[in-house]
Amino acid sequence: MFDAIVVGAGPAGATTARLLAQKGFKVLLIEKENLPRPKLCAGAVSIRAKPYLPNDWENAVINTVYGGNLGFKGEIYLSARCDKPVVKIVERRSFDLYLTIKAKDEGVTVREGESFINFHSLRGDFTEVVTTKGVYKTKYLIGADGALSKVLRALGVKRKTFLVCEALVETRIGNMDEVFIDLGLVKWGYAWVFPHGEELVSVGIASLKREERNLKLLLRKYIENHSLLKGKKIRSIKSWFLSPSRGGLFTGEGNIFLVGEASGSVDALLGEGIYYSVWQAHLLAECLKSQNHRRCYSRSLKRLKREFLFGYLTGFLGYSFQRFMFKNAKERDLKEFFKFLRGEKTYADLFKYGVKRFLSSLFKF
Ligand SMILES: Cc1cc2nc3c(=O)[nH]c(=O)nc-3n(C[C@H](O)[C@H](O)[C@H](O)COP(=O)(O)OP(=O)(O)OC[C@H]3O[C@@H](n4cnc5c(N)ncnc54)[C@H](O)[C@@H]3O)c2cc1C
Repeated sequence: MFDAIVVGAGPAGATTARLLAQKGFKVLLIEKENLPRPKLCAGAVSIRAKPYLPNDWENAVINTVYGGNLGFKGEIYLSARCDKPVVKIVERRSFDLYLTIKAKDEGVTVREGESFINFHSLRGDFTEVVTTKGVYKTKYLIGADGALSKVLRALGVKRKTFLVCEALVETRIGNMDEVFIDLGLVKWGYAWVFPHGEELVSVGIASLKREERNLKLLLRKYIENHSLLKGKKIRSIKSWFLSPSRGGLFTGEGNIFLVGEASGSVDALLGEGIYYSVWQAHLLAECLKSQNHRRCYSRSLKRLKREFLFGYLTGFLGYSFQRFMFKNAKERDLKEFFKFLRGEKTYADLFKYGVKRFLSSLFKF
């Protein structure tokens, strides 16, 4: 019998499990893959995630980003740098393993290569969890099993997901401490080039419009035509799902809780999920200790949901007028964005700033 069973050892699950164990819960963490396992992800963790990660998390960092370049269709770029780090890049295979080891260190029992199948409610507020290798009894079941969450599906909820395509390309970009973002390639989305260790870059395209069907082909063309990437060897090219929020989150029901991307914790402007997953894990762990945990969880998610709403609105503004936004962008706009990624501004601040800049560019005041 466990106090909590957490499904999925990604950032959301490993963090929730670790925090609950720290609070004295008997926790079982179930992961369907054997760790370390690959996870398609550019690995960008904005600096504002720092308070929600273990103190020595920087050991898992492979690049530190100080600058950004905003372009249009891989052509001209507007550049800016920050004297402090803006984003850290992690390699998900080792980052997620690191977070799981941290959970184990706190006493969490980890079962790898074991998949959640279903759950049944039992009398007295307990839940029976069925996996590929056994049946367990728990007080709380926590679904942290990502974009295609089986726990969410077992609750009878269907959710919209979008495909994101990423390639690893064998090259270096500058000092490997800057990122490149391109507008103008897809509707509601962007292309990125991020450093990924010493000799690789992560290149990808994300779009929240379903009509953008052949992202893989588009990504290949982008790489072939990009001045920094053309002729370089593509080591891998893959797609995976993303389930961003427009301001709502699925939190579960009764003693079944959802956290991380299983609940839709990804913002609709950038597709950033790691920061929100670990933040939400802290909120959930705090609430499971309280008497009225469901109400506590719903209340504590208000700030997170507000961020997602303003992230969506900022995306609406930015992606609806991509050419106009790019033509009128200034270095100070990128610097404002850095402040946001460093946690000095919220999405609400960024949205207000964006509206002001949009109107001043439109009416030239
Ligand atoms: C191409 C791409 C690039 C991205 N780049 C970034 C980025 O640069 N920065 C960023 O912040 N976010 C990025 N994201 C989003 C980010 O990857 C996710 O939001 C984040 O991984 C969510 O964390 P999580 O812990 O909720 O879920 P996940 O990391 O998806 O972890 C879920 C875990 O659950 C396990 N699991 C699934 N089903 C079961 C089951 N039935 N039983 C047991 N275990 C199960 C999985 O194996 C996995 O280990 C990107 C996403 C994509 C697709």
